[in-house]
This record gives sequence, C-alpha cells and structure tokens, in this order.
Amino acid sequence: MGFTCGIIGLPNVGKSTIFNALTSAKAAAANFPFCTIEPNTGAVPVPDPRMEVLAGLAGSEKILPTQITFVDIAGLIRGASKGEGLGNQFLGHIRSVDAVAHVVRCFDDDDIVHVEGKVDPMRDIETIDTELILADLDSVSKLASKLEKIAKSGDKEAKPRFAVLQELEAHLSSGKPARTLVSKGLEEHVTEMMATLLTAKPVLFVANVEEKDLHNKPEVGGSRFIDRVADHAKSVGSTLVIISGKVESEIAELSAEDRKGYLAELGMETSGLDRLTLAGYQLLELITFFTVGPKETHAWTAKKGTKGPQCAGKIHTDFERGYIRAEVISYQDYVDGKGEAGAREKGKLRIEGKEYVMQDGDIVHFRFNV
Ligand code: GDP
Repeated sequence: MGFTCGIIGLPNVGKSTIFNALTSAKAAAANFPFCTIEPNTGAVPVPDPRMEVLAGLAGSEKILPTQITFVDIAGLIRGASKGEGLGNQFLGHIRSVDAVAHVVRCFDDDDIVHVEGKVDPMRDIETIDTELILADLDSVSKLASKLEKIAKSGDKEAKPRFAVLQELEAHLSSGKPARTLVSKGLEEHVTEMMATLLTAKPVLFVANVEEKDLHNKPEVGGSRFIDRVADHAKSVGSTLVIISGKVESEIAELSAEDRKGYLAELGMETSGLDRLTLAGYQLLELITFFTVGPKETHAWTAKKGTKGPQCAGKIHTDFERGYIRAEVISYQDYVDGKGEAGAREKGKLRIEGKEYVMQDGDIVHFRFNV
C-alpha cells in the first residue's frame, strides 16, 4: 500500500470533507491513477512539477505520479483510550499508519455542532493528544510490568529494557508524546515498542478554516485560532497546513482546467490538498526518483536514505534481486543537458553500485540480471 498518512481529529472538524475532496479531486483528473482501497482509504498522487519537465524533454506519452495513501480515521472522542466511541478500533487504525495529519476545526459555523460545545482548537488538540498519550501509557505500562518481573528473575536483557520503559512511562505520564523523548536506550532496547506507539508517529496539523481566513499567514497575524495552532505546531517541531474543507470540496468538483481559474480567483497558487499531500510527503521523509523514457515518466517513492537495490525493488522485486548497478543523472543535470543524451555527453551520467543512496530527483536506469 506504500506510505500512509492517517487523518485524525474530533468529530465534525472536517476530516471526511477533506478526505473526500482529496480523493475525488484526483479521481476527476483522468490521467492520474487513483484508487479507493476501502471507503475510508485512498491513494493520492503527489504533485511534482518536475514530472512535466522530464516528460517534455523525453517526449513521454504518459506521466505516472507517485502516490501516498490517506486514511480517514473516524471515532476519536474524549475517552477513546478507555473504549469510548469506536475506541480501540480507531486506535488500531492509527497504529497502522506511518504518519498522522491532525485536523483541527478553526471555522465558526453555528449550524455545525461542535462536540465540545464551542470552537477551541487548542482544547481540541489537547483532548486528542491526551487520548493518544493515555493509550500509549497503557501499552507501555503493561509491557513494563511484564519486564519488571522478568528482570527481577535475573534476566540480563530485560533489565535495560525495563529501565528505558520506565523512562518512557514517566515521560508519557507527564503528558508528553513519545516522539519527544530523547533517550539513548530507545533505539537499542525498545524499537519494536516504539513502532507501535501512537504518539511516536510524526504528526502535522491541518487547520480547517473559513474561506476568508485562507490568506491569513500565521507569521503576519491572521485569525486568533490559526495563530495559536501555528505556534503550537512550531513548538512541537511540526508543520501546519491551512485549508478550507468547504473550498476544497468545491475545487474538487471542477475539471482540471476550471480548477486553475478558480484557484487564481481565490488568489491561491496550489490547492490546499496539494499542499497537504506535499506536507505529508515531507513529514514521512520521502524522496522521489524517476524512470524516464518515451513511454512514460514515472515517479517513485522511497524513504530518505534508501539504497539503489531497495529502490529498484520498488519497481519490481526482480530488479532488487538481480541488481547490478544504477545509471543515474540528477534532475538538474538532466534539465541542463536537455535530456538523457545531452547529460551523457556532458559526462553527467553516473554509474552507481549497491551502496548508492538514492537522492531526491535522481533519474535512473537500473541494470539487473535475473
Ligand atoms: P468529520 O466528522 O471530522 O469527518 O467532519 P465532516 O467532514 O463530516 O464535517 C462536519 C460538518 O462540517 C459537515 O457538515 C461539513 O460540511 C462541515 N464543514 C467541513 N469543513 C468545513 C469548512 O471549512 N467550513 C464550514 N463552514 N463547514 C465545514
């Protein structure tokens, strides 16, 4: 399924509106592959202007963007960690995603009920964070008490693990998410546990705002709600995407051509959904590499730091198994050479072996033997 980003937030903050706009907008753009995996799961193409440039230079018939998957995770309410609402079911959904987009309601609309009475994004963020922290605390405490017994029985390995879990337990108990704990032993002793923790996942915030607030740049003022969320996002080392679910669902109804015009009318260069997709991509620390030829320009995704053979494996398992080398041209060299032949002439085509770490923007031919 590739890389997944879960959309979470209290009920009625606009999660489904944003999710539906994300997925239906792309379905309307016929040359983008799109699929709904389940009603609440959709693969969304990652916008990347480099694809058009490469396809132009190579005369590609088709452009195939890379994708990330979004999951609309419903059921998060106060008390969820104790099984309220969809409780455990939604916690399980969050556990299975790679990153979290936390939607907060910044729009005031008397017709739309707020589950907590009135609009207050900071209280909402706290409510959700608390539920996630409590759920993690529960898992960590259970494992800690198990390990405590084993450690007491003299097991050498259990001792350092128990010590790290105690640190983690204290950290969560003080209301802090697991991702902010800095501790030497984390990597070494509790990697598996960390992978299951909800508050260890990278998070970005999405402020769902009124249309009039779309242009409020947090750094120059803006509405009181957005400012606070922006400050909070910054303080926890996260990013904020400002979106209007209502506007996005209108944009999603339009054809690709009309969409450009409408965005210009609103004074926006890119849709909020494109910004959200990109932010998700950055949050997951992903890079894009390309395979380019007359048939297609194809963008592929890998985690930053992935080496040649594993990148080849994204295309086909045979490519990884029989990997010999990669012939690589950087995006800039490809553009400067006005295509592959020109880049080759300038000596910009590199032969890279198994240890090569793929870079964002690389244009690659894999050589393999099976
Ligand atoms: P969810 O429960 O978080 O998935 O919320 P929904 O997406 O179902 O939205 C709840 C209600 O808020 C719906 O009636 C939406 O039409 C409305 N809504 C969503 N986004 C906006 C927005 O940006 N502005 C306004 N005024 N209403 C919105």
